[in-house]
Amino acid sequence: MLRLEKITIAQGDFLLKADFRVTPGRKTAVIGPSGAGKSTLLGAIGGFLPLAGGKLWYRDAEITEAKPGQRPIAMLFQDNNLFPHLSIARNIGLGIRPDLKLSPEDHARVAKALERVGLHGMGDRKPGELSGGQQSRAALARVLVQDRPVILLDEPFAALGPALRHEMLDLVHDLSDEANATLLMVTHDPQDVRRIADDVIFVEGGRAAAPQPAAALLENPPPALQAYLG
Ligand code: ADP
Ligand code: MG
Repeated sequence: MLRLEKITIAQGDFLLKADFRVTPGRKTAVIGPSGAGKSTLLGAIGGFLPLAGGKLWYRDAEITEAKPGQRPIAMLFQDNNLFPHLSIARNIGLGIRPDLKLSPEDHARVAKALERVGLHGMGDRKPGELSGGQQSRAALARVLVQDRPVILLDEPFAALGPALRHEMLDLVHDLSDEANATLLMVTHDPQDVRRIADDVIFVEGGRAAAPQPAAALLENPPPALQAYLG
């Protein structure tokens, strides 16, 4: 279980507060207006931004000060950040070892991840030689090989059209289930929430609210969420 204990995150003048637990194995959508702090929240959980206050826990271990690679967390940033000069297989290998000194077992894991996301045989290609959807699959594979119990995805498929996005969401859904992972995914599309999320974290007004069951929340949204959904 991931626990955010009275957390404050500062980005310049911007402050975001959060105080809640995330239930293991649930898929949670993180929604809210542009600039509300969704990326900030994920970045802080992933260890890419320091906390200005509060503590972060995973199970019984405090991870407030842990470096990103030492956390039980794999994160996919808003812009995918595949390295254009590296092959897809090497991009995925970075998820296992940042120095890319991969053992035969590591190479086998990369091949397995490629296969699982539907990119079998494409490991030698550069990102620029893949379609947008295939690049998203490669980025997902890099998250997958890290084999972490918590997965953070920041608007992973915003650049894709609706049909492809649905396909990718279904893949994320299945991959999360197979890995028994806890998923936090930022999206701005309520349809994505309905498609994949058990719970919703609404970020607005300098606060990330505790996760609420998605169906009930969308059925009967509080005024701020109603205003956001339109
Ligand atoms: P969201 O992902 O919900 O669109 P962000 O988390 O990216 O929002 O940004 C939240 C707020 O933090 C915004 O007001 C933004 O201007 C501010 N911000 C983001 N990055 C920085 C930064 N590096 N320095 C200062 N302020 C930042
Ligand atoms: Mg963002």
